[in-house]
Amino acid sequence: MQEQAAAQRKHYKKYRLQESDRIQKHKAFNPDRKKKWDDLRLRREVSNADGSIVRGTIARLKSQATHCAYCDVRLLRKQTDHMIPLAGGGEHSVRNLVIVCQDCNQRKHALSYEQWIERVELCHRARVIAVFDSRYGMQHAGRVAA
Ligand SMILES: [Zn+2]
Repeated sequence: MQEQAAAQRKHYKKYRLQESDRIQKHKAFNPDRKKKWDDLRLRREVSNADGSIVRGTIARLKSQATHCAYCDVRLLRKQTDHMIPLAGGGEHSVRNLVIVCQDCNQRKHALSYEQWIERVELCHRARVIAVFDSRYGMQHAGRVAA
């Protein structure tokens, strides 16, 4: 698992732009599937909502964020990420949402948080653990080797 994660990191670093391009094209060529995914995400957001996100909440979080919660890069395109993925039962809540860069969002995708900690660049691992711990208590600190 560790080796696989390292290989993924290396691959992603090397093919970052191609990956991004590939995903965009895939969506453009498969509008029906994209619509299905979008609908599914929306249904999950509704069913997993705890009520803390109302109209304007995400816009406010985005306007407040200046740097990626995961890699600290200055944000150009601000995207939202559910730390615990909706697909994995994560809440659609302020606590579970972070504002991140497109790179991190694409890389994390639907990974569990444990997988994300393993895959993220080593230099960002402590930050990625800290952001989770700041929301959910010290669940990851000390458990995952830095
Ligand atoms: Zn990032």
